[in-house]
Amino acid sequence: MKEKKGVSSSEITDSSAISKIKDKRKSQPNVQHLVDDILKGNITALSRAITLIESKNLKHSETAHTIIKACLPHANNSERIGITGVPGVGKSTFIEAFGKHLTQLGKKVAVLAVDPSSTITKGSILGDKTRMEDLVKDENAFIRPSASGNSLGGVARKTRETIILCEAAGFDTIIIETVGVGQSETTVHSMVDFFLLLKLAGAGDELQGIKRGIIEMADAIVINKADGDNIKRAKLAKVEFSRALHLYPEKASQWQPKVSLCSALHNEGIADVWKIICDYTKITQENGFFKRNRKEQNKFWLLQTIEDNLKSDFFNQPKVKKELQKQLQQIENGKTTPFAAAETLLNL
Ligand code: GDP
Repeated sequence: MKEKKGVSSSEITDSSAISKIKDKRKSQPNVQHLVDDILKGNITALSRAITLIESKNLKHSETAHTIIKACLPHANNSERIGITGVPGVGKSTFIEAFGKHLTQLGKKVAVLAVDPSSTITKGSILGDKTRMEDLVKDENAFIRPSASGNSLGGVARKTRETIILCEAAGFDTIIIETVGVGQSETTVHSMVDFFLLLKLAGAGDELQGIKRGIIEMADAIVINKADGDNIKRAKLAKVEFSRALHLYPEKASQWQPKVSLCSALHNEGIADVWKIICDYTKITQENGFFKRNRKEQNKFWLLQTIEDNLKSDFFNQPKVKKELQKQLQQIENGKTTPFAAAETLLNL
C-alpha cells in the first residue's frame, strides 16, 4: 500500500498539543498558584520556579522574587549539608547512597550543586541527573544541576534562592555539592550548616595537596573507597587526619570535627556519617551556634547581594561599557594609570 502524502490526523493532534504547551509556557505563570503548588510539595512547580530564578530575563527575575518572598516564611526548616571533594573521589556515588539512606529514614532530600566550572564548559559536571540514577527515581528526592551564570557569585545567589524554594516545598535535607574550583568551597561553606570533605586514602601523605582552609572548614572528613585493598590505607589515613584535626584551634561551634571511613560503592559507613551529622546538629542547636551561624550567613549574604547588584548595575550602564573600553585602550597605550581610569569611570 502507498503511503498517504500530507499530514496525518495524529500529527495534527501532536502539533496542536505541542503549540498548546508552547502557549502555556509563554504565558506568565500564575504566581499564587505556583507558590501554592510549591508549598504542597509539587516538584513540577518547584522546578518551574527554579527555572525563573535561573532566567536572565528581567520579568522572570521579578516573578522569581515574588515567589521567593512568599516562600520565605515556610523556609529554614532543614539541615543544609555541603559536600566537597576532588573529581573522582566519589561524590555522586556517596550522595546517591547517603540520599537513599535518608529517604529510607523518611526524609525528603534535595541535591543542588555549586559548580562554577559549568559556566565555562556549559555543561554541569556536578548534580548531573545521570550520575545519580537511583536517587533520581526516588520520589522523596529532588536533584537539580548547578545553575549557570557569569560568576561564582551569580551561581551562589541562585543556589541560595533555590534552597529557600526547596525548603518551602518540604525538603528537610538539602545537600549542596561542589568541586574545589576557585572559591567554591568557601561559598558553599557560607550557605550550609554542616560541611563535609570527602577524601581518598593516599600513600601516607594525606595532608599534602589539601587547600589551605579546607581543613578548618570541615566538620567531618570522610575517607571514601575504604574497601578491598584500600582498607588498610584508609585506616592509616583516618589516624593521620584525626591527629591533624586535633592541632587546629577549637571551632566557634565547639564541635570537634570527626574523621570517618566509608565505601559509598558498597553502602558501608553511610549511616555513621549521618550519625555524626545528627550529633553535630544536637550539640550546635543546644549551644545556640546553629541559629547564630544561620543569622551570620544571612548577614553575609545581604552584603554580598548588595555588592553583586551594585557591581552589575555599574557595569551594565551603556556609558560605562563604552568608557571602559576606551580606558582599557588607554592603559594598553600607557596613557593612563588604573587609578585615574577607575576614577574617571566611577565619576561618569
Ligand atoms: P565524583 O566525581 O566525585 O562524583 O565521583 P563518582 O561518584 O563519579 O565516582 C568516581 C568513580 O569512583 C566511579 O567509578 C565510582 O564507581 C567509584 N567509586 C565511588 N565510590 C567508591 C567506593 O566507595 N569504592 C570504590 N571502590 N569505588 C568507588
